[in-house]
Amino acid sequence: MPQNPERIVDHVELFKQPEYTELFKNKREQFEGAHSKEEVKRVSEWTKSWEYREKNFAREALTINPAKGCQPVGAIFAAVGFEGTLPFVQGSQGCVSYFRTHLSRHYKEPFSAVSSSMTEDAAVFGGLQNMIDGLQNTYELYKPKMIAVCTTCMAEVIGDDLGSFITNAKNAGALPQSIPVPFAHTPSFVGSHITGYDNMMKSILGNLNQGKKKSKSNGKLNVVPGFDTYTENNREIKRMLGLMGIDYTILSDSSDYLDSPNNGKFDMYPGGTKLEDAADACNAEATVFLQKYTTIKTEDFIRKEWGQTTKTLSPWGVKGTDEFLMTLSEITGKPIPEELEIERGRLVDAMTDSYAWVHGKKFAIYGDPDLIYGVTSFLLELGAEPVHILCNNGDAPFEKQMKEMLNASPFGKGANIWLKKDLWHLRSLLFTEPVDFFVGNSYGKYLWRDTKIPMVRIGYPLFDRHHLHRYSTIGYKGGINLLNWVVNTLLDEMDRVSNIAGETDISFDLVR
Ligand code: SF4
Repeated sequence: MPQNPERIVDHVELFKQPEYTELFKNKREQFEGAHSKEEVKRVSEWTKSWEYREKNFAREALTINPAKGCQPVGAIFAAVGFEGTLPFVQGSQGCVSYFRTHLSRHYKEPFSAVSSSMTEDAAVFGGLQNMIDGLQNTYELYKPKMIAVCTTCMAEVIGDDLGSFITNAKNAGALPQSIPVPFAHTPSFVGSHITGYDNMMKSILGNLNQGKKKSKSNGKLNVVPGFDTYTENNREIKRMLGLMGIDYTILSDSSDYLDSPNNGKFDMYPGGTKLEDAADACNAEATVFLQKYTTIKTEDFIRKEWGQTTKTLSPWGVKGTDEFLMTLSEITGKPIPEELEIERGRLVDAMTDSYAWVHGKKFAIYGDPDLIYGVTSFLLELGAEPVHILCNNGDAPFEKQMKEMLNASPFGKGANIWLKKDLWHLRSLLFTEPVDFFVGNSYGKYLWRDTKIPMVRIGYPLFDRHHLHRYSTIGYKGGINLLNWVVNTLLDEMDRVSNIAGETDISFDLVR
């Protein structure tokens, strides 16, 4: 229907207009053969019951909203944190469009990744020629310093051998012999985006440090953030290391790439870890990992191949940040500066101010294992009580680590951990055992709509709210951001349920 050019309305308003409501009604009645509204309501109510929950949890062959992405998403995320690096995906256009849009919608930034555009013929005869042509075009058109290659399901099903394909491409003159082309096989029918991140990070570090062993220390500390989608977190880590006077290399630093300034010029490769620094990472004093489950293979590689001391730390909340800073101090011999002590005091003060509103509140959480671990550890410090912890891509070691943390807290005893479950399972859990709030990514808005339980958006992806990735979640400063999101969500809800004048507004207070 034509819009009035004098008053263009947003689709929220547009689709309420009579011509659209009539059209939707007719479509429903005449084409969809839909059930009556009463029947839909009856079934909808049934899906909230314990009986339905049991059937839902007996489900085996279907996943609904899995709360994870596929491997190449993590692989290309790891790659763009390195200077001048273009991810190259051996596979179909459609998959790569999904990866790019997923990341672009979260960051509201362009995300560059090329595809070898495999179609039916490549699926039958193999994708060698696609890769040779694709790598040549990539190099000539976009002039990258490094091309990081991963795969989609199709290339994995037909068994494309990336190592020999890349060698063939270089021998055919499609690329200079000198350009680094690390590669990772990233079959998406196993693992998730965090597996892909790990595979690519290990591959890039292995490629750039090929044949090297630690010779003499360069005096630096390597820091591997993991699949951390908060751009401010890398900046926060760098700030804290800077305050302590620690020389470091972030492996890899995508904060500028995924949060670049708009200065009127397009830069295809903003920021990133210098390749020469990454190529010297094997000579660092030690490597600190800020996540555990996104870097299992990378940690093993650095410890065994580079012979380095490795530490995995989770700088979330007071305790986690304390441990992080004290460990850095132990490794480097540098003292923790007063400025960080003052920041700690500010977080403790903020927690004390908000404690009464968060203490004893029951919550659910879903997401990647490291994110769940970090957020839950902080919420336990505030006296919040986890009830449902759902981690589709978590494993038995994660469950064990979580249980240790939960059992060590007086507030963790009532939690259940659900591995390999999806958001439709969580919907049943929230209806049958409701909580005061839940934490998760944007897909949780459907749970919020159905259950009316307040939602705190933390995780990836966050498509439907802006700029959250520009705030830190780690360190003492990040703790204040987390606290802000949680406590103000609870206060918003309190206002919402007490805002009827003359009925519920006895608790509609100005001061909370
Ligand atoms: S799961 Fe496989 S087919 Fe689907 S988008 Fe990921 S790589 Fe492509």
